[in-house]
Amino acid sequence: MSVHLSGSHPLATVAGRRCRQSHPGRGFLLGGVACGVCWEAAIRADERLAVECELPAAPPPPDREYVDLVAVERAAAGERVPLTRAEKRAAAVRLAAAGYGPGPISVRLAVSGATAALLLGRVAS
Ligand SMILES: [Zn+2]
Repeated sequence: MSVHLSGSHPLATVAGRRCRQSHPGRGFLLGGVACGVCWEAAIRADERLAVECELPAAPPPPDREYVDLVAVERAAAGERVPLTRAEKRAAAVRLAAAGYGPGPISVRLAVSGATAALLLGRVAS
């Protein structure tokens, strides 16, 4: 992932202000915003701030146990939707409650029979 150094960069305002204040009459401006030194300073300062505030550098990973009930509903209805393992389990349990066995569940959720059995908490035979 790379963010271009341009006016739409989240730190463009900071970098641009620093550049105008520290050396007016500048030379080449990256993205028409600030020189490389000022971009660098703005980015480094932002990283330091993130560390000081203990902000995660990247968004936290999605909660693996989060279950999107709409996705589960759609998958149980036979729609091909990407599901997390927790959602597959929820869909399998829902189908089992509706009278489906591991075989039909594996077909419905596009998983192997063994996986369907595992999702239902049974030992694969
Ligand atoms: Zn500068």
